[in-house]
Amino acid sequence: MSESERVSSSARAFRERFGGEPAVFSAPGRVNLIGEHTDYNSGFVLPIALGERTYVAGARRADDTVRCYSRERREEHAFALAHAWRRSGKWHDYVEGVARALAARGVALAGADLYVSSDVPPGAGLSSSAALEVALGLALTTLAGAALPAPELALVGQSAENDYAGVRSGIMDQLASALGRAGHALFIDCRSLEVTPVPLPKAGVSFVVCDTRVRHAHAGGGYNERREECRRALELLQRSGRAVTSLRELGIEELNDIGKLLPEPLDRRVRHVVRENGRTSAAVDALRRGHLAVFGKLMNGSHASLRDDYEVSVPELDFVVAQAQRESGVIGARMTGGGFGGSAVILVDTADLERLSTNLRASFQARFGHEPVVRVAVASDGVRRETPARA
Ligand code: ADP
Ligand code: MG
Repeated sequence: MSESERVSSSARAFRERFGGEPAVFSAPGRVNLIGEHTDYNSGFVLPIALGERTYVAGARRADDTVRCYSRERREEHAFALAHAWRRSGKWHDYVEGVARALAARGVALAGADLYVSSDVPPGAGLSSSAALEVALGLALTTLAGAALPAPELALVGQSAENDYAGVRSGIMDQLASALGRAGHALFIDCRSLEVTPVPLPKAGVSFVVCDTRVRHAHAGGGYNERREECRRALELLQRSGRAVTSLRELGIEELNDIGKLLPEPLDRRVRHVVRENGRTSAAVDALRRGHLAVFGKLMNGSHASLRDDYEVSVPELDFVVAQAQRESGVIGARMTGGGFGGSAVILVDTADLERLSTNLRASFQARFGHEPVVRVAVASDGVRRETPARA
């Protein structure tokens, strides 16, 4: 389905459910090329926004009720903006969370009917949650006659996720979804929130996403545990007299000394974060210079570190990465996203793409009994209003 057909089908689904003419908004999922579990440590990340997007078709209502239907969940949830909010642990926490976070920023919201449909698989490490939050953020502000700059929409999305859905995620996913740029990766400094687009190679190589279809659930899982370990490590370092406010401020040359101050496994968690920041800076440099072999080695190093030091990989991800790294034409491979399931990202010569996909599907099926979903990442633009076009 073309992008314009996708927008039309979103509007049609809205009309069939609610009647009336909607405006359509969309925001992309993302794949992170390198820089994992660094965002909430104020470090560096390098995601691209994907061609797969979440669509929100919406129209304003006369009262203060928000009704939201999710095509994927086949369920409608309604709430009154004036009523107090309670966490349900369900998908619509993200919807109410965005509305509450917007209100907390002073946006005077209006009631709305919303039809959500998404091409970003949930729990695949491609950030369906941020795509949903950021698309909803633009929909709700626009329908209320207000406007927020894209970086603010990202912060609203993060607040919805942290303060309402209860996932203590960093800012990478929402910034990628809000500010993605076609043909570019985004180098993000998660302390200053500065976002620098870096051009991707125009031809010859592809980034492939291999979704193991092992689903993670970040709400209440190992993700929050890792974040808590980083917080404890930082606290211990501060108590031992180090003047640091985030793990980002630590240098690779300090790791030996730091290791002596921290109990296992906190020493390894910190080692991952510090080295991953170094790898991500080096990867951006390599990308800018066209040194793809260097970029690929850094991806491989990132995977080993996430597997051994940060311990967020799973056998399915390790298998895909090891298989890919053995294939000719593969420049680098690593798990991507928070881990505990989800996807791997592979940099490959485009000439070898077909064979890689075929071999990955076959070997994975033989080992785990189901096929992974293999897609080529198309670096795309961030959140936008699709229709009607602005005057
Ligand atoms: P990821 O962001 O990697 O896909 P998360 O666990 O962070 O995984 O977010 C997935 C959750 O986001 C889903 O369980 C659901 O609550 C919510 N979500 C995402 N997309 C949709 C959708 N189209 N409809 C309803 N809920 C969605
Ligand atoms: Mg998410």
